[in-house]
Amino acid sequence: MPRKLSQLRFIIPALSIATLACGTSSAAERSREASTTVVIDAGHGGYDHGGIPGQRIPEKEMTLDVAQRLKGLLAASGYRVVMTRDSDVFVPLPTRVAIANSYQNGIFVCIHFNSANRIGADGIETYFYSRDSLPLASAVHYFVAGGAPSPNRGVRRRGYYVLRKTKIPAVLVECGFLTNPNEGQYAQSPSYRQKLAEEIAAGVRGRFSVTSTLSSSRVATGDSIPLQSYTDQTNVRSSGPSRSKHSNKRSSRIKSSKKKKRSSESTGSEASATSKEREG
Ligand SMILES: [Zn+2]
Repeated sequence: MPRKLSQLRFIIPALSIATLACGTSSAAERSREASTTVVIDAGHGGYDHGGIPGQRIPEKEMTLDVAQRLKGLLAASGYRVVMTRDSDVFVPLPTRVAIANSYQNGIFVCIHFNSANRIGADGIETYFYSRDSLPLASAVHYFVAGGAPSPNRGVRRRGYYVLRKTKIPAVLVECGFLTNPNEGQYAQSPSYRQKLAEEIAAGVRGRFSVTSTLSSSRVATGDSIPLQSYTDQTNVRSSGPSRSKHSNKRSSRIKSSKKKKRSSESTGSEASATSKEREG
């Protein structure tokens, strides 16, 4: 899938954070937000470490830590928060989706970190699938990419299982490359993980205001962001501990993407596998 990255990105215009960060203000908005359930999904877990073979920093630990910090921040803001996992356990993707879909008035925030064989690969990227998810994706990406000392890899549309199967607005944010020396070092800092959580929380709180502001300026839409090819996660066989490594071979397969696009990821290794090594 050696499509030019430039086609897949958009740069969010510079905006005044002051106008966005105010979040909710009116009583009606506060009431609406108080009735919103945020389902936080920490990527990977248990035997599914995430990342690529030989990766020094375990993705599953980073995602859980950011997720738990985000939980605290959103709960303090009055949101009802549900975690798909709150410890180092493996949760299959269909279970994560089922949890999300049990909250009709919810939004789904999936947290991952990226990895690549090329250690220079870096940056923040955010994924969405349904049109209804774009405001959330735009807002989360606006804050995370704006708050991180990392390149902006853009908002991208892709049919990851957890994005495609969730019926509520859903976003998957890749909080940087753990295989990159700088971003890996950042990620290992608790204060930086707190910063990431704060930016994601700001995106959740600002998901309406960011969109409305962007809509009046140059902004990507569901139509202008092409749907990237993806591997159908539903055709995977039952997961097991040995699948994790297998899934991680995908980065090399992507390079020679002429090969059939059959799924081979573990049901728990979604974004660890498919989002890698596109920096071309
Ligand atoms: Zn991942």
